Amino acid sequence: MDYVNGPGRNHLFVPGPVNIPDQVIRAMSRNNEDYRSPAIPALTKTLLEDVKQIFKTTSGTPFLFPTTGTGAWESALTNTLSPGDRIVSFLIGQFSLLWIDQQQRLNFNVDVVESEWGQGANLDALASKLAEDSAHTIKAICIVHNETATGVTNNLSTVRKILNQYNHPALLLVDGVSSICALDFRMDEWGVDVALTGSQKALSLPTGIGIVCASPKAIEVSKSAKSVRVFFDWKDYLKFYKMGTYWPYTPSIQLLYGLRAALDLLFEEGLDNVIARHNRLATATRLAVEAWGLKNCTQKEEWHSDTVTAVVVPGYIDSSEIVRRAWKRYNLSLGLGLNKVAGKVFRIGHLGNLNELQLLGCLGGVEMVLKDVGYPVKLGSGVAAAAAYLQNTTPLIPSRI
Ligand code: PLP
Repeated sequence: MDYVNGPGRNHLFVPGPVNIPDQVIRAMSRNNEDYRSPAIPALTKTLLEDVKQIFKTTSGTPFLFPTTGTGAWESALTNTLSPGDRIVSFLIGQFSLLWIDQQQRLNFNVDVVESEWGQGANLDALASKLAEDSAHTIKAICIVHNETATGVTNNLSTVRKILNQYNHPALLLVDGVSSICALDFRMDEWGVDVALTGSQKALSLPTGIGIVCASPKAIEVSKSAKSVRVFFDWKDYLKFYKMGTYWPYTPSIQLLYGLRAALDLLFEEGLDNVIARHNRLATATRLAVEAWGLKNCTQKEEWHSDTVTAVVVPGYIDSSEIVRRAWKRYNLSLGLGLNKVAGKVFRIGHLGNLNELQLLGCLGGVEMVLKDVGYPVKLGSGVAAAAAYLQNTTPLIPSRI
């Protein structure tokens, strides 16, 4: 077995799965229940209503699938599209690459718009494609809001503006796996047709719920979409929603109670405060990276992600060695560089249930590992830059005011 206990708590700074708050762990520590009793439908009803808040939607219909982000992708695609449909999809890192692979394997006709890793989606290319498509052959735009592999956040409000500018009816399908509950996300305002996330990211739950939220237009389109789907079919859920029993198959009871506790914690802090906290922790991380004299993989400030920072290491260092050592020596878990940026970047995930002092612990650990692998870092430099910023900007804890 690979896993070996270390003293103290593991500093979990991969960009998902993230730390689970004690309140959520306690809420999930319970026996199974009969999901056909009145209790589970009553719980599910409140979850479906409240989960809309994390998408900032009043008109959307949420689905809680027992799955991961990958299953949520499949649900979004197969319920709204038919084989052969033309879609535009942006390739900017490993997760957008994997989604495109799924789109191709599901037999959609994908126009891949590729950017250098570290850059955001090429929205000029989107504008040109829409301008040329007066026949409306493009059925959907697929975009990853936050590319977890490179720490790049795309501007969804600009995507909506471009679609409106050309009066184009394509559906807007958004992967919000590493953004929703952490970054500003406005499903209704941005006209997102399907948004999705996974429970193990900013919601700070175990892996296992793929949350998919569909606009009224997406629900309408799903009635004629011809892709084969069984497990992820919205139709089955909608039938059981109408009956008030909610579940076409057995739900994970424990995860539902966990979701209740996770939402309660988010609402207690206030979603706007949660988003501001993510911005604060991300800014502190970026200041530390600068103080170490290292580069952010994200090439422009407008794309900086507030949930994950990919740090580029000098050519003479293998970033995988940083990740290995951090875990072996300091009980610190950092994210590896993936695919094209393997060995070149390591990632600091700063999302979910996390606070300022936890982050400083991580940054202190990174400094020690950098020194271990031969990078001439001044110990304390990044921590000092981050702490100076956090000391100036950290508000009182909302529930303790
Ligand atoms: N989309 C993004 C942006 C991700 O970061 C991930 C996983 O990290 C996925 C999709 C895939 O999610 P999962 O691993 O839960 O299937």
